[in-house]
Amino acid sequence: MTGADEVLGRLRAYREHDAPTHGGRVLSYVYDHGRPEVDELAAQAMRMLQPVNGLDPTTFPSVALMEADLVTFGRRMLRGPGATGSVTSGGTESCLLAVKAARDLWRAGGGQGRPRIVMSTSAHAAFHKAADYLGLGTTVLPVDPASGRAPASGYVEALGDDVALVVVSAPSYPHGVLDPVAEVAGAAADRGIPSHVDACVGGWVLPWWPVAGGCPVPPWDFSVRGVSSISADLHKYGYAPKGASLLLFADAELDRARYFALTDWLGYPVVNPTVLGTRSATSLAAAWAVVQSLGDEGYAALTGRVVRATSAVVAAVEGVDGLRVVGDRVGPLVAVATDATVPAERRVDPLLWTAAVAERGFVLQGQPSVVQSDGSVVPHTAHLTITPVTEGLVEQLAAALEGGAAAVRGAVLPGPEALSENGMPDPVALADAARSGGDLDLTSVLSLIEALPRDQSARLLTAFLQRFTAPRDV
Ligand SMILES: *Cc1c(COP(=O)(O)O)cnc(C)c1O
Repeated sequence: MTGADEVLGRLRAYREHDAPTHGGRVLSYVYDHGRPEVDELAAQAMRMLQPVNGLDPTTFPSVALMEADLVTFGRRMLRGPGATGSVTSGGTESCLLAVKAARDLWRAGGGQGRPRIVMSTSAHAAFHKAADYLGLGTTVLPVDPASGRAPASGYVEALGDDVALVVVSAPSYPHGVLDPVAEVAGAAADRGIPSHVDACVGGWVLPWWPVAGGCPVPPWDFSVRGVSSISADLHKYGYAPKGASLLLFADAELDRARYFALTDWLGYPVVNPTVLGTRSATSLAAAWAVVQSLGDEGYAALTGRVVRATSAVVAAVEGVDGLRVVGDRVGPLVAVATDATVPAERRVDPLLWTAAVAERGFVLQGQPSVVQSDGSVVPHTAHLTITPVTEGLVEQLAAALEGGAAAVRGAVLPGPEALSENGMPDPVALADAARSGGDLDLTSVLSLIEALPRDQSARLLTAFLQRFTAPRDV
């Protein structure tokens, strides 16, 4: 036996390796609302539900009650009075289930063979994962590198009898761009094809965007004809602890297709609305408590802070020579690319910039360039997720963005050969170096991803993470 103090001491020591989750220094992964009492409330709710098994809401009706409350709040927020759905463990699970439901409905309608998902390059990786796990094909439309969005006509041309689902984003994660939801969902509905709006990141912030002082947002929710399902992550702008997303369906038949039920094995009858069997109710409880506590008013107030912070950050980036804000964006996400219209000596590379900004105390997220199906290249960018606490840091952040740009202006990103002589680093060596306290050179890793064929870079990253997470004494 080990004493509780010692156990917790060890955990505290582990946690010292982590990036800060609060305070707005990390502009991805974490969504800090800046209200410690809300975190405390969530912690108490988690503790209260700690022993419950979410597998069976008939044995533990609190699970059904909390979920029903969240669905009720969510369908009002997303303007689908009759929508039904579930709380899942996160955006990826919501996306997987939206695809599973659409696939099963397509099969029930007589579809034979391998159905397709139609989406664009900006659609979240979760849909590629869903296609991979669930045996669907994909048609990935190129986005216009200037606007960050694929035209509605591209989606419409790609529709066919083998299309089980169309996916549009509200907004896309990479560039924060709203897809042409109304045109696409309407055209798909005319052919009897369901449309999923991936509002994993926007779902709990865009509904309040205009009332909180942001620009108007074209309709993207259940008020749009043809929108058949929406995912909206509670653990992003819902400000709940990780492990919660809301998935809603406009139509009860499609909603039913998300379930898995089995009665002919030797054990208890199985009816699973989501991917897991036995599941924790702690994230659900925390999300429920946060939503009860914040309510409409709380979300509107927090969105107001995000709106003001985002405008300030966009203005700051636009004021930096050699950089430009990418795409026809709306909402709290900002992607920044090189301004290729200025002479080379004035250009700022976003990946080098990210490293220089990190030295100034703020962590941006690098996104590698992508060659699209039509051969066009969407250049690499730095991504910023703006949260309520960013508002209090805007001047410091702007200074770091400007200072970082000044430090790397005119510099050219080194090729992957910087990582090793033949341009093919050993992922195991890279992981070992990172584990032994060395900083991971993300700039080089991203430039390597750009240089290698996709399947090769994916294999390399897998080998890297497998090593990084392996027990230390092997
Ligand atoms: C975050 C995100 C997802 C995936 O969600 P996870 O919670 O990370 O699994 C899907 N789509 C969009 C647009 C997202 O921002």
